[in-house]
Amino acid sequence: MDKPLSVVIVGGGLAGGNAALELGRLAHDAHVTLIGSEAHLPYQRPPLSKGFLRGTEPFDDALVAPRTEYERLGIDLMLGRKVVRLDPDSRRVRLEGDEVLAYDRLLIATGGRKRQMRFPGADRDGVFDLRTVEDSERIKAAARAGRRVVVIGLGFIGCEVSASLRTLGLDVTAIDPAPAPLVRVLGPEVAGVIAELHRSHGVQLVLGDGVDRLEGGERVERVVTRSGRQLECDFVVAGIGIDPEVDLSRLMSTAGRACLMSMRLETSPSTLTHCLGASESSTTTTPKSKGAPPRHRSWTVACRTTTCTPSGAISSTRPSNTSVSPRSGTASPLRDRFRIETS
Ligand SMILES: Cc1cc2nc3c(=O)[nH]c(=O)nc-3n(C[C@H](O)[C@H](O)[C@H](O)COP(=O)(O)OP(=O)(O)OC[C@H]3O[C@@H](n4cnc5c(N)ncnc54)[C@H](O)[C@@H]3O)c2cc1C
Repeated sequence: MDKPLSVVIVGGGLAGGNAALELGRLAHDAHVTLIGSEAHLPYQRPPLSKGFLRGTEPFDDALVAPRTEYERLGIDLMLGRKVVRLDPDSRRVRLEGDEVLAYDRLLIATGGRKRQMRFPGADRDGVFDLRTVEDSERIKAAARAGRRVVVIGLGFIGCEVSASLRTLGLDVTAIDPAPAPLVRVLGPEVAGVIAELHRSHGVQLVLGDGVDRLEGGERVERVVTRSGRQLECDFVVAGIGIDPEVDLSRLMSTAGRACLMSMRLETSPSTLTHCLGASESSTTTTPKSKGAPPRHRSWTVACRTTTCTPSGAISSTRPSNTSVSPRSGTASPLRDRFRIETS
């Protein structure tokens, strides 16, 4: 019997988890290893600012799949382990602690990392941001009814955290330099509706003003804005965005094997011979894009790129056609949907 193809997936988020499960189900000629630096099974982040934060959804409901499903499919889980080096020439990854793992195919699904807060005073106690289940738990522990919170940033996460904390009975003030929440993505009309919705639920909005510094003793006590407002608080939650976690992909790129995906989430066949970028860490390009290509960060992208592409990339048999097409929403053979080739 032929030795199974060794597929290593780096990144145990939604994209990595889905990829591993999909490969386990469809690619019977592969042995899959999933390496993730978080200690948990792959989980979905959307509840962290919504039901999980409000205490209405247990963490188990956010799991991409229960542990038994990975076991059933023979997927090796290496959780709480970080990959620190890639060597594409010898097809090896090195983990923290110096363990080395060989692969035939590598999928990088390292997602995003929190953007660092650069305001003076951001290192005080009581200043939180939100990416992981532990972050959400910290905010939940601070979120007692009647406490005052300042939410920095009114993107999706800032809006959701503001709404959740207000629902829990906190006194919420949210600040953003833009004239309305989410105005850049949704336009002024919808952004205006969202602003009114927040106000009608008692969220104080400070718009058109940015954060200058965070003041207090050991703990944060107030946010001082650029225009000099002083927003007294018991704690702060920042939702100021993420940066793609592309350190490993860059290593591949410097080795001449760039992980590039187009707007349609296509990637070049040569790349697929042993590297396929998935998830939020992927660069997407459009024919019209100038300068830095845009990145598309959402649950949908993380979910759909990986439920389809890796199987097509590695399977030597014709893959099943039961997945949902990211282009049309209808089922069609994997190969028809993604211009990919097996090596
Ligand atoms: C609070 C919150 C709410 C959200 N709500 C929504 C929503 O309502 N709708 C929506 O569309 N999107 C939402 N999103 C965004 C959505 O969750 C992301 O788009 C999705 O999680 C991306 O999945 P991913 O697997 O690409 O990346 P990630 O979730 O970032 O996972 C990548 C994983 O790789 C690991 N990793 C990174 N580097 C290494 C390494 N070197 N070695 C090993 N492991 C590594 C990371 O620790 C991480 O676990 C939300 C995000 C957050 C934080």
